[in-house]
Amino acid sequence: MTHQVHIIGGGLAGSEAAWQLAEAGIKVRLSEMRGGGDMTPAHQTEGLAELVCSNSFRSDDDSANAVGLLHHEMRGLNSLIMRAAAEAKVPAGSALAVDRDIFSATVSKALESHANIEIVRERIDQLPSEGLTIVSTGPLTAASLAQSILSRTGQDSLAFFDAIAPIVYHETVDFDIAWYQSRWDKGDGKDYINCPMDKAQYDAFVQGLIDGEKADFKDWEKDTPYFEGCMPIEVMAERGPETLRFGPMKPVGLDDPRTGRWPHAVVQLRQDNKLGTIWNMVGFQTKLKHGAQVELFRTIPGLEKAEFARLGGLHRNTFIHSPELLDHQLRLKSAPHIRFAGQITGCEGYVESSAVGLACGLMTAAELSGRAFTPPPVTTALGALLSHITGDGERADYQPMNVNFGLFPPPEGKVKKKERKLFYTERAKRDMADWMRPVIAA
Ligand SMILES: Cc1cc2nc3c(=O)[nH]c(=O)nc-3n(C[C@H](O)[C@H](O)[C@H](O)COP(=O)(O)OP(=O)(O)OC[C@H]3O[C@@H](n4cnc5c(N)ncnc54)[C@H](O)[C@@H]3O)c2cc1C
Repeated sequence: MTHQVHIIGGGLAGSEAAWQLAEAGIKVRLSEMRGGGDMTPAHQTEGLAELVCSNSFRSDDDSANAVGLLHHEMRGLNSLIMRAAAEAKVPAGSALAVDRDIFSATVSKALESHANIEIVRERIDQLPSEGLTIVSTGPLTAASLAQSILSRTGQDSLAFFDAIAPIVYHETVDFDIAWYQSRWDKGDGKDYINCPMDKAQYDAFVQGLIDGEKADFKDWEKDTPYFEGCMPIEVMAERGPETLRFGPMKPVGLDDPRTGRWPHAVVQLRQDNKLGTIWNMVGFQTKLKHGAQVELFRTIPGLEKAEFARLGGLHRNTFIHSPELLDHQLRLKSAPHIRFAGQITGCEGYVESSAVGLACGLMTAAELSGRAFTPPPVTTALGALLSHITGDGERADYQPMNVNFGLFPPPEGKVKKKERKLFYTERAKRDMADWMRPVIAA
């Protein structure tokens, strides 16, 4: 079969992209290295769209949850991943969990039996120099291809570790305690939010980091040394009681308005999205277990009632610096015949990876048929996610992200806090329906 699009990687994103293209009548070659003599350190089978860890697609509630809303939007766009998840569903309360073998088998069968798809079990080592291509090789991209991506995009554009600091919803910070200020009043006065600690609070916090329950490294992660720039805070705490006070919790140049003096230590938050709805805890990448993080971080003055858009973590994760490298159609600016999809673009999670694969399939199909493709509005879950990935080329500290309401534009008028989630989902559904009309008609 002569193909029109070459997809590299038959995981969640690649499978969804292949399905979208094939359903649009486009001939696809899907190259997957598993089954051709190669394996990743986390996959166990040769099945397409294998789930490497949990069997959950998280909340299926589309009335008050951003990932549930993304499920809803994907279903509306004929997602194979969502269809297979429905077939493989197992009881999990309001979550969408699946039998992973049935799920992968359902996806594999749908793609193998599609007349427009040819699946080839082969490892691709070089980015193709021509022909429409989608790279969806995921967080565990084979080293040879990662090297080729690196040479094409430059040294600083590909990360191999995902040092995740927790992210806090701005509206849950207590500004009776926390205040805005940049160190030494440099930059814009609102660049950082500062949470002060006295000596007793700091000492207890450091001890909490040392004692807190940590997540284990996977075998293949153990040999990889920490980079100084993304050292977990608990490792810093173990180096000595003052290490953090001379590192990310340094108080110098920060005047607590309640005392007029520098506190003993400070936790700083930095704006994480253009909208200012979510803020990351600077230098707080951590391998503490999620429950331990929430408990400990809520002892920080000003964060007692913090809600987290994302908790911290540190694991191997190959992803490109998408905001700088990709255009709004997920095309590599320097080689527009190549698109990227899935976790390698810097989204995080099964659902998000599949959703970006879906969007990438639609974009490629539109390009082949000569149609312009306007991405979904940023008020929708898919639009908000795409906007995080491609939206802002200036972000030096780009980090992978789950879909969450902090990525959505806040309401223009006043909406009570407890009604916000409903507002976001209703607005998204309305805007998605408007956006989909011409897409479905095409
Ligand atoms: C260890 C681990 C655990 C995770 N656990 C979860 C979790 O519990 N929940 C969650 O929501 N997310 C989790 N993620 C994050 C992420 O959602 C998944 O990795 C997800 O599978 C990403 O989808 P993808 O399609 O981008 O990549 P993948 O599903 O990994 O698919 C990429 C495919 O490309 C193939 N490939 C790689 N290189 C080449 C090459 N050169 N040539 C041909 N084929 C190639 C691989 O074999 C693979 O099949 C986890 C990630 C990791 C690494």
